[in-house]
Amino acid sequence: MNDKTTKKEKDPMGRAIFDYHTTGKAAKLRVLSSMFYEDEIPVHTLFRKFEEMPIQEKQAIELCRGRVLDAGAGSGCHSALLMERGLEVVAIDISELSVEVMRERGIDARVINFFDERFTEKFDTILLAMNGIGIVGKVERLGEFFRAAKRLLAPGGQILLDSSDIKYVFMDDDGSMEIDLAAGYYGEVDYKMRYKNIAGEPFDWLYIDFETLAMYAEEHGFHCEKCIDGEHYDYLACITESNPDV
Ligand code: SAH
Repeated sequence: MNDKTTKKEKDPMGRAIFDYHTTGKAAKLRVLSSMFYEDEIPVHTLFRKFEEMPIQEKQAIELCRGRVLDAGAGSGCHSALLMERGLEVVAIDISELSVEVMRERGIDARVINFFDERFTEKFDTILLAMNGIGIVGKVERLGEFFRAAKRLLAPGGQILLDSSDIKYVFMDDDGSMEIDLAAGYYGEVDYKMRYKNIAGEPFDWLYIDFETLAMYAEEHGFHCEKCIDGEHYDYLACITESNPDV
């Protein structure tokens, strides 16, 4: 059972989203990892409009149908757009602060962990935007992801998710790669976020290349298709149950 949620005092991203929503600006949202140099998420990008979205997210919006679950919805930027288009949307996030903001934006948002087995509603589309599959953390947890998806998908339903093949991070100028094969899959990243004086708990985040994702999907009774390539080693995948009637 995984019903972990993020409390307000320990939620840098949620606080940044909350500040931006209430005041129109936010401080630096810092992202730390043992694998990369320190980075920053420009908080306004978490409130991006359709025109500002990368091509794979625009495509995902176009492909959403029926009752939609926006999983790990953040500020609710995709939920808001889908509602404008007349779709029924439920947004879930483990961040109490983000859910508070989404509710103020008029979204049916709930503090729910995607892996929580008590959440048993059915959806025609599960959307995981901005590398939402990252919530899995490690490749070995993909089975748990597909089990959760089976629980949440209505017959004929689809999962839309975008991710990246981050092997370019490990590539030398000559195209050769230095990857420690014993260290596990190269897209498994550890992150920590910081915002003002709030330090978040460290968490695992998975970036997965299309072929590896497709292989795991097949193994768990799903079919995975690439809808579109993004501009930087990223892509949008559409995943459906292989034998929904069996
Ligand atoms: N989809 C949004 C936000 C992406 S950031 C966008 O595209 O802008 C990832 C979000 O997932 C964060 O808000 C985080 O709180 C949430 N999250 C992380 N693990 C989760 C889980 N297990 N269940 C639900 N939400 C989760």
